[in-house]
Order: sequence, then C-alpha cells, then structure tokens
Amino acid sequence: MAVNYFYPEYEAERNYDRCINCRVCEKQCANSVHEYIQELDKMTSDDSKCVNCHRCVSLCLTRALKIVKSGNTYRENANWSLKSMNELYRQAESGGVLLSSMGNSEPYPVYFDKILINASQVTNPSIDPLREPMETRVILGAKPQVIERDRSGRIKNNLPPQLKLSMPVMFSAMSYGSLSYNAHESLARAAEAMDILYNTGEGGLHEDFYRYGKNTIVQVASGRFGVHPDYLKAGAAIEIKMGQGAKPGIGGHLPGSKIVGDISRTRMIPEGSDAISPAPHHDIYSIEDLRQLVFSLKTAVAFKKPVIVKIAAVHNVAAISSGIARSGADIIVIDGFRGGTGAAPTRIRDHVGIPIELALASVDKRLRDEGIRDRVSIVAGGGIRSSADIVKAVALGADAVYIGTSALLAMGCHLCRTCHMGKCNWGIATQVPELTRRLNPDMGYKRLVNLLTAWDHEIKEMMGGMGINSIEALKGNRLMLRGIGLNTKELEVLGIKHAGE
Ligand code: SF4
Ligand code: SF4
Repeated sequence: MAVNYFYPEYEAERNYDRCINCRVCEKQCANSVHEYIQELDKMTSDDSKCVNCHRCVSLCLTRALKIVKSGNTYRENANWSLKSMNELYRQAESGGVLLSSMGNSEPYPVYFDKILINASQVTNPSIDPLREPMETRVILGAKPQVIERDRSGRIKNNLPPQLKLSMPVMFSAMSYGSLSYNAHESLARAAEAMDILYNTGEGGLHEDFYRYGKNTIVQVASGRFGVHPDYLKAGAAIEIKMGQGAKPGIGGHLPGSKIVGDISRTRMIPEGSDAISPAPHHDIYSIEDLRQLVFSLKTAVAFKKPVIVKIAAVHNVAAISSGIARSGADIIVIDGFRGGTGAAPTRIRDHVGIPIELALASVDKRLRDEGIRDRVSIVAGGGIRSSADIVKAVALGADAVYIGTSALLAMGCHLCRTCHMGKCNWGIATQVPELTRRLNPDMGYKRLVNLLTAWDHEIKEMMGGMGINSIEALKGNRLMLRGIGLNTKELEVLGIKHAGE
C-alpha cells in the first residue's frame, strides 16, 4: 500500500448549502483541484493539487469556497519544522533539487519595516503637495565630473547618455517566456503611459514590442538569448545581468516546454530546447573583462545609450560595486535576496544573498567614500512593496528602484509561488493559450498605471511631510530615517540613528 509521507498544505472548503454546481471552479483551475461527480451530483476537491492561487475563490459567484491551511499537524519541534520535514520527504521521494518561485520566504529581518521616516514640525515647515510643486522626476546615468567651456565660453554639452523617469520606479527584468505575452504588453504599455521603463529580461524582445523602445531596457544575460544588433539598438538602455537576487551565483533555466512559437523565435533557439543560461558570463572573469563588454555594447549603440550592470546583493557587494563603477557602467542595479523569479532552487533562493536595505546602504557609502558616487546611478530591487519602501530606499542611497513582484500583484498575481509549474491560473507566468487569455492587457496596463499613480501621490506626500520638494534632495539623506529595534551594527551598516536619537 502506498504511504503518503506529506499531506496537502491547503484544503478547499466548500459550503454545500451555497454551491450550485455551476462548475466554474472546475473550469478555472489549471491544477484540476475541483471535479464534478455526476453520480453524486456534487463537486469534490483534490486538496493535494491545490497551490492556493485563489482563482476559484475569486470567481465563485455564491462565495461557496474557502481555501484554508490544512489542519494536519506533524509533531514539530524547534529544530524540525513542518516545512523542513515536508521538503525532506519530497526530496526522498524525487531525488531532485527543490524548485521554488518568487523571492526568499524565510523569516529574515525586513529592514524596511524597522525604519521610520521623519516629518517636519514647527521648524523647516512641511510642504503641501496639492498646492506646491513637487519633483519626483529622476535622471539616471553618469553625471559630468567637470563643467567644460568652449573657446567662446559657452558650456559644452558633454553629458553622457542618460535615462529620464517621471518617478523613481522601473519594472524589473522579467523575460518573455517566463511571463506571458499579455503580461509583457501590460508592462510595456504601462511603462510608456507613466514615462518610465520596463525590462525585457533575458528572453529577447518580441517584434510587436519594438515600438515601446524608448521605454525599454534590453537585457544581455549570460545565455545571450535573443541578442543581436537591432535588439541592442531597440531599447533606451542596455542591462548586463551578472546576477539576480533570487538566485545569486547560478544561471537560469527556462524549460523546453515553455520554448514554443514566438518565444523560441524571440530567443533565437529551437522550439522545445531548454534555455539554460550559464552561471557566469564565459567572457567575464574580472572587472577588466566586464569593462570590455560594457564598451563593446556602448560601441554597438554608438555610445548613445547608457549601460547598466545588474548584480545580486551578496556579502562583498560594496567592493564589487566600486569595481563596476570604474568599469564604465552608467548605472548599477543591486538586487536583494527577496527579489522574485520564475524558478530558482529553493536552497539558493532562501539561503544565498543579503537584504537589499543593507546592501544598498553599504554600496552608497562606499561609492561616496571613494568619491565616485556621481559616476553611476544606483537602482535597488528585490523587496519593494510600497511607496514607503521606495522613500526609504531613496533615503538609503538609491536613485530609483525596480519593482517585479509588486507589478505582478498589480496585474492579478496571488503569490501562490508556483510560477515554475507553468500553469499560472491568472495568465501571468504561463504560455498555455487558454490561461494567457485570462490576463487582459487593457486591464493589466490600467492596474499598473493605477498603482504607480497612487505611489507617486504617496511619495510626494511623504516628501512634503519631510519638507523636501525634490526627490534629488532625499537621495542618500539618511537624516530622514530612524531605526526601530535594530542593534548597533545594523544601524551602523544602514548609516542611520535609532528612533529617539
Ligand atoms: S464555483 Fe462555487 S458555486 Fe460553482 S461549483 Fe465551484 S464552488 Fe460551487
Ligand atoms: S505569477 Fe501566477 S503562478 Fe506565479 S505566483 Fe503569481 S499567481 Fe502564482
């Protein structure tokens, strides 16, 4: 007799007094949790297949469904949690590496929640953003080191190529292939409407999206999928992906089952073949090698576009960033360990890397100490959930932030964390045609625009409260922050005082 070593994590509770056997839940669940039993004239559920994506709950017109945590309990102790035991059973059964989606879910400190923002009282009066102009526009890229004049005394326009954003937010790299066409269209249209940028990720650029070029960052990752001269020229900036917060030190893997049709054409690889990006770029083993790639890419676009280098937040991130700033890159992206992903080995996701707050503060400090902060802009990603997180990130030294998971949530993601299974019931992280249709790009784009519009208002309100009317004046302004419940070392790394000081 087969023994079940682990039990369903969630249970679908059905209120049979309310259920009208409409079978909507059965049709909507790509995981086949719900089934109509003819003989019983009754709906049933197979809880072992439920990933808690809430698609059925959202669409049940009679509110008959509820997804609850399983009531089963193991005899846990402080050392062996239910999660550890379940994972071990799973590996004993499969013999394989555990895979997960989205960001680190372990209970490490969330420093954004232990930092408080200042407000003006009496002196340095606050500013009313409804009545007075507030500036949230951001310019990313290297700043000129000196002002030069020509022979007639006119200031020379020797500005390096830069990016202009209407607010300090961009959509982070999420490839076409890991996300559906409709999700990419939503992101591209929202970026255009908000005058910000979205990022192709490492999957190339679909021909339909070339028209959003001025709002697009094209990425060059170690697999070089979909990279060709027209692709490099199509975007407003080029991003070299050296690392990613969700899986520092390892490459990427999009299974062959997702490499179909347009995705295979866009990536320039055969249908059905696995898209495996190597862990390193095989032509980069030093900062000098990185510098060569930065300048090769700049040459490909006639030095008209900024080059971004993205790394994961790891232990010696400040020293690495110092090297990147000297490599000729215009923008550095630091991606914290809470950054999302379509698929990552669970152990890497949950145990490798560091929080963005600590990484960001130490990179900003190091570049300032070395007098090279103006050579590059810093973009922080991996764990930005709200406008308050953005304000805190900017005060810790970021010029702007990347959002990924927050953007997916705006489009309807319910954070079920099973993107790697390719059956996203919300039509976002899937290529199954009947599922991708569920995300209407008109709705996806509108919801993204709404989110950013709301955040822009909130950022202005918080800036006004601090008596600051320009985001530039907030950048690295740690005096506007105080820590709560943090130890001396944490405060020192963040460069902030404790609340009450
Ligand atoms: S969607 Fe609701 S009402 Fe319809 S079959 Fe499922 S549980 Fe019953
Ligand atoms: S994108 Fe889809 S599969 Fe991934 S976490 Fe969100 S709802 Fe789940």
